[in-house]
Amino acid sequence: MKTNIMGIEFDNVSMQEAVEGAKSILAGNKTCYAVTPNAEIAYEALYDEALRSLLNGADMVLPDGAGVVLASKILKTPLKQKVAGVDFADQVLGVLAETGKSVYLLGSKPGIAEMAAEKMIEKHPGLNICGMADGYFKDEGPVIEKINACAPDVLFVCLGAPKQEIFMKAHQQVLNTKLMIGLGGSLDAFAGTVKRAPKWMIRMNLEWLYRLIKEPKRFKRMLRLPKYLWAVVIKRIRG
Ligand code: UDP
Repeated sequence: MKTNIMGIEFDNVSMQEAVEGAKSILAGNKTCYAVTPNAEIAYEALYDEALRSLLNGADMVLPDGAGVVLASKILKTPLKQKVAGVDFADQVLGVLAETGKSVYLLGSKPGIAEMAAEKMIEKHPGLNICGMADGYFKDEGPVIEKINACAPDVLFVCLGAPKQEIFMKAHQQVLNTKLMIGLGGSLDAFAGTVKRAPKWMIRMNLEWLYRLIKEPKRFKRMLRLPKYLWAVVIKRIRG
């Protein structure tokens, strides 16, 4: 079921249901794509119609951050839970390892995908990572060829927003894969080069604060979170 939060049609699903959704896409024969907007992206989408339609054109739209879930509560159309992209990706890897299906890792700086792959295989023994490429390419043609040569069941697209959404939509018809997932900086998180917040901070919905402390240069970007919530409150009041 879809829930519209400030113009974005989110899937109102639990993590479990999101994983079931991925499984049914894997069982089908269409090339689908999933997006995981957080409040920063949702704020951008308020004013950027093209971005909004890229997000709404996805087969799965998962709420990546506590900010989006809070917005849904303020608007009295609460989403079941936050489905963080990196956690969803990890669950999908579990499914792939169990079923012998493959994944291709695209994005992040050179060397990161290799480190991420090592950690993924450690956690999900038997996982088939059929290829990888960094996200700093000029020409998309050879990248697409490499991906299609191994026809992965799942393609992680980790180029940051909105680059990854543009990439997925633009090449949906030619990419030989079942499910593409736009995952921002998740390969850095898998690789361990960018640490995730401690569990207690994640539990208290303070992951954004941890990132702000660790990467103060994100401050300007992160101002979009209070701006987004401000727009949400105004909408609730004005209707
Ligand atoms: N990135 C990339 N190619 C680019 C620009 C960015 O592969 O041309 C990668 C970058 O290395 C990082 C990710 O995209 O791994 C973006 O991370 P960030 O945390 O900024 O993403 P967000 O999820 O917040 O959009």
